[in-house]
Amino acid sequence: MRSESHDIIVIGSGIAGLSFALHCSAFFPLRKIVVLSKALINESNTSCAQGGIAAVMNHLEDSYEQHIKDTLQAGDGLCDKRIVEMVVQKAPEEMRQLMQWGVNFDGNGNQPDLGKEGGHSTNRILHCRDHTGASIIEVLLRRCEEAANIELRKNHFVLELLKNNDLGMACTGAMVCSDDGVYAINGHYTMLATGGSGQVYSYTSNPEIATGDGFSLAMEIGTQLKNMAFVQFHPTVFYSPNEPNPFLISEAVRGYGAVLRNHRGEEFVYKYDSRGSLATRDVVARAIYNEIQESGEEHVWLDFRHFDTNDFALKFPTIAAYLINKNVDVRTEMVPVKPAAHYFCGGVITNKFGKTTVPHLLAAGECTCTGLHGANRLASNSLLEALVFAKNAAENLKTNFEELQFNHGGIPEINCSCSEMKYNGLKKNVQDIMDKSVGVIRTKPRLISARAKLMNLKHLLPKSDYSVKACELRIMVNVSLAVVEDSLQQTSNRGGFYRDDLNEKSEVKETL
Ligand SMILES: Cc1cc2nc3c(=O)[nH]c(=O)nc-3n(C[C@H](O)[C@H](O)[C@H](O)COP(=O)(O)OP(=O)(O)OC[C@H]3O[C@@H](n4cnc5c(N)ncnc54)[C@H](O)[C@@H]3O)c2cc1C
Repeated sequence: MRSESHDIIVIGSGIAGLSFALHCSAFFPLRKIVVLSKALINESNTSCAQGGIAAVMNHLEDSYEQHIKDTLQAGDGLCDKRIVEMVVQKAPEEMRQLMQWGVNFDGNGNQPDLGKEGGHSTNRILHCRDHTGASIIEVLLRRCEEAANIELRKNHFVLELLKNNDLGMACTGAMVCSDDGVYAINGHYTMLATGGSGQVYSYTSNPEIATGDGFSLAMEIGTQLKNMAFVQFHPTVFYSPNEPNPFLISEAVRGYGAVLRNHRGEEFVYKYDSRGSLATRDVVARAIYNEIQESGEEHVWLDFRHFDTNDFALKFPTIAAYLINKNVDVRTEMVPVKPAAHYFCGGVITNKFGKTTVPHLLAAGECTCTGLHGANRLASNSLLEALVFAKNAAENLKTNFEELQFNHGGIPEINCSCSEMKYNGLKKNVQDIMDKSVGVIRTKPRLISARAKLMNLKHLLPKSDYSVKACELRIMVNVSLAVVEDSLQQTSNRGGFYRDDLNEKSEVKETL
């Protein structure tokens, strides 16, 4: 098989991949860095991020201790406290780095305008109106394009990670499917920055690319995943059952004063938590789920009829434009919302330098489990996590760069032409299984049945079909199985995970 070599391979062009590439470019001006993206370069979860990034920027009204406390509280006992402390303390430095690269947060440089989101005890979210992610990506991409030693390649789908037994089982690069066919890229280091996997559910805030490829690539090369049961459901995604990519109504809108109401007009979240509509996402999503079950309705309402419409449109231009397009008049009407799969709190285990258990394989961003989020991610902590770990990983390479000796031969030819199988129908099958049995509230019998159905699907899929659609489907089945298995392993309910036969953070009530 054709092969080529680069010094550093970055799989993913979201915030984790691009910021890692930029740091590496600065630290190693003579090394070649290639960034691969399976779709367009700016198609990622990062580009969809609305609310912003959490950081303590105002030490008079906020403190590291408070941000740490809020993160630990959301994580419900599964966070690694040392990692939480490290990330929170590095947050302001990361914000300054973004500003230096060219990101213009709202407010002014020294005093950014800070928003509030669920689970945060105070205002600490830096934002660019309601398109923070897209604004960050625009800047990072511009910087990457300017860097002489970074090459960005769109429509390059990584099928497999390469491993060399003679090199201590190190990861030596990736096998890639592009318009020019399948080829191998060797690299001294490979960074996995492939994002999350919301697409295993049909109702998700995540774009098409989010099929969990990094989780599956990592499992196949032998790294460990952790906390896959902890899928975060965002409480307020616009209710629009026939839309392929449902639209998120950022938590920042609730931070700005919007409240959730049931069909009787009650602010029902207070029944579940004294923080009401601004409780953490796990609490609010379950409250909505219960309300929907009880009422038999398909959604609840988000009410911001009391907002000054001009202010709202200025602060949240993307959301305002979307609602106008949907013919919702927010002055007189409430907005229908329901929870949707949003974020994978678990993933590839890494240490604080983004090292996985496979030598020369690094990971950062949503595909990882670093210990920051525990059982439930605090809002706006994930862009931050990606930045901190990408930088730590690059800094660590600066002092410890070990070259590998590549063996260029020996990789068999693979054909990734399109197959005849109806993969879209099968994708829908996976999503149906996950929606029905592995959602906000799970039951043991349904999980067991989901496992059997997914195993059947797995056996149905031809292993030798390397078309992108076939690979994505195999990946989605693998990821779904990992979520189901981990859900069955849990012995108590915590954070974003809830199974109806378990108690809160205690032992199993009954076993089947
Ligand atoms: C609607 C929405 C709103 C959000 N709002 C916020 C927010 O306000 N604040 C916050 O902190 N977080 C937010 N999040 C979460 C946050 O955006 C993500 O967790 C974060 O952006 C993930 O960044 P990443 O770099 O890890 O992955 P992504 O940004 O998802 O990038 C993944 C990249 O990997 C590539 N890729 C994947 N598989 C392959 C493959 N097999 N081969 C080649 N390339 C591959 C993709 O093409 C893509 O370039 C939001 C998420 C969504 C969906």
